[in-house]
Amino acid sequence: MIGTIQHAAALLSACRSAVALTGAGISVESGIPPFRGKGGLWEKIDPMEYAHIDAYKRDPEAVWRVLFMELKKVLDKALPNAGHAGLRDLEEMGILKTIVTQNIDGLHQKSGNRDVIEFHGTFASHSCMACERRLDTSQVLLETLPPRCACNGILRPDVIMFGEIIPVDHLQRAQILAASCDVMLVVGTSATVQPAAYLPVIAKRNGAAVVEINAEPTPLTGNISDVTLLGKAGQVLGDLVAAVRRLR
Ligand code: NAD
Repeated sequence: MIGTIQHAAALLSACRSAVALTGAGISVESGIPPFRGKGGLWEKIDPMEYAHIDAYKRDPEAVWRVLFMELKKVLDKALPNAGHAGLRDLEEMGILKTIVTQNIDGLHQKSGNRDVIEFHGTFASHSCMACERRLDTSQVLLETLPPRCACNGILRPDVIMFGEIIPVDHLQRAQILAASCDVMLVVGTSATVQPAAYLPVIAKRNGAAVVEINAEPTPLTGNISDVTLLGKAGQVLGDLVAAVRRLR
């Protein structure tokens, strides 16, 4: 632990408005593997080969077989964990205003957080690449791959793939929140995917304290982060919320 729970709790307890940036690490305890880090999906597959929009346009069936079917299997079973509950509690306590998540799993909303910006989109819906019709993922038939729309166009999950840009309204709102919060909590992200990884830098430059919770050090550690708590998000956030409650 580089920094203490008490220090992080004091910052949160005194703050006017906190914003969280979350990544795949917060959902690992829900059974969803991260991309990078130990046990990450990228140890097995090449992201540029399968998670790039050009790869999907070239061979959507291969992307479904190697990446999306695997992802769907774990997402279908996943439930929020203690880490998600910790962020929900911080919102209920009036401390946490918004979560900017890089995750596509919908677990923050399932846990009860009300203001969640899905920076990299969501796997909960699909869109037709031909007619742009939008479908709930539960309505998408996977007997033949890739799944198709009634118009025979190819469906794609509404996730932002490599090679695609973040929707401008999400990007703008996240940047404004980063610039105006006084604490940014950064949880379970390797802080390597841009432009999400730049949000803590914006927060820091505008005077916010950055509190990082991650299983291992990241490029933010000892650099942008004022406090880094190393450990599992569920355990650390549970301890942090308990420490904030003691200060109130
Ligand atoms: P990442 O996979 O690059 O990094 C995850 C980080 O979490 C690593 O630094 C790892 O050490 C840490 N970690 C692992 N287990 C942890 C735990 N129990 N508690 C705390 N930290 C833990 O994730 P990223 O930075 O979010 O970027 C990857 C991209 O992958 C994102 O764009 C996201 O869309 C996508 N992704 C999403 C999901 C999901 O929706 N759950 C899962 C995998 C990948």
